[in-house]
Amino acid sequence: MSGVRYRSSREPAGDPANAPGGAGVSFRDALLAGLAGDGGLYLPDRVPQLPAAWRESGSFTDMAASVLEPWLEEPAGSELRGLLAEAIDFPVPLVPLSRGRHVVELFHGPTLSFKDFGARTMARLMNRYLAGSAQTLTILVATSGDTGSAVADGFAGLENLRVVLLYPKDKVSDVQERQLTAARPGLRSLRVRGSFDDCQRMVKTAFVDPRLAGVPLSSANSINIGRLLPQQLYYLWAVAELRRLRRDGGAPVISVPSGNLGNLTAGMLAAAGGMPVARFLAAHNANDYFPRFLGGTVAPFDFDETAATLSNAMDVGAPSNFERLHALFGAELSDRIWGVGVDDQTTIRRMEATFGDDGYIACPHTAVGLEAVDRYRAASGDDAPALILATAHPAKFPEVVESALGRPPPASRRLEALRGRHSRVEEIEADSAALREHLLAGA
Ligand SMILES: *Cc1c(COP(=O)(O)O)cnc(C)c1O
Repeated sequence: MSGVRYRSSREPAGDPANAPGGAGVSFRDALLAGLAGDGGLYLPDRVPQLPAAWRESGSFTDMAASVLEPWLEEPAGSELRGLLAEAIDFPVPLVPLSRGRHVVELFHGPTLSFKDFGARTMARLMNRYLAGSAQTLTILVATSGDTGSAVADGFAGLENLRVVLLYPKDKVSDVQERQLTAARPGLRSLRVRGSFDDCQRMVKTAFVDPRLAGVPLSSANSINIGRLLPQQLYYLWAVAELRRLRRDGGAPVISVPSGNLGNLTAGMLAAAGGMPVARFLAAHNANDYFPRFLGGTVAPFDFDETAATLSNAMDVGAPSNFERLHALFGAELSDRIWGVGVDDQTTIRRMEATFGDDGYIACPHTAVGLEAVDRYRAASGDDAPALILATAHPAKFPEVVESALGRPPPASRRLEALRGRHSRVEEIEADSAALREHLLAGA
């Protein structure tokens, strides 16, 4: 069978060009473009079934290469294996808690959030596709947190890529600012005298600015299909690992702390490929559009304003991957996914209870995921084993942990090391012309 093709979420499904094996674009083109030409998100025209022995792989890298190969045309074989070994060079431990729950720690990468999986893999695939060309691609990101640091780290030092990162002055935490400005080859960090929305507007303007036609730009947020596909890997690894640990064979419930819904989309793709899962839990904070959509009380795309919460990496009123989930799975969503919105006070109480019952320190995002499991069990009576994705290291949120538990989070060697790192940042006005000057000067 030919490789998977990628088509826009906005093209009508009945169009013969969208039939499996029809037109669409290659993975390479979808990755380098980011968004489809009509403004839609790229979708696979089919979901390859998991290789028969996916659960028997001895190593994460072996499993990862065999699972991803059918999604890409190239690289393949040992070249793909080598690329993945370099991208995902950190462990994915399962930590047992009481009552049949396991936390899947996705925060052992360089920037201490699960975003390292997607960003590091995507960066190396882009670099591979550009290798040998004279082209340098500039990745432009506006960030208020984890995406920026994962992208800055993931793309640093790759020959054909550079990163220009914009973040709002005085609106990120100290830890975040250190992560965003640590000097790295090929990285320019710009502190913008304005809001996050100003940063996003400047980025959007740059993409359509004719005076920047000579500076090839791309983006690296979770609308890019290249960030999503590698995120299937830790789901598969965790489900296989749970079976090795428990041996009782039941499909688990998987709780996913969610904001933009990229993580959950990756899980749904893995399930469509054949991964056993009893139910996904969409664990949101007060930004609970998606749980309300699943409950049938709000129409598709009738999004909200964003509300600020303690689990700030999930503060998304209008989740950009909703369009992709909706186009791929439609009416199936409410059968496969159970959703809940958790407020800040309950998040704090869940952090306390988890520390009290199990001695485990969860970051606020992970605590939302833990709370969702208890709510789901109470609502459904289903006590299947549960996997909770831990999306960030608690050391990234020292103030919240300290206020919830009365003690600081455990230290992280990776964050400690940042203290000594040289930081490099330039401050600019919240003005598109100022960004243009920087992009032209660095081209
Ligand atoms: C980005 C992020 C999320 C939300 O993930 P989505 O893919 O946007 O749903 C949750 N937790 C943390 C720590 C994050 O950085």
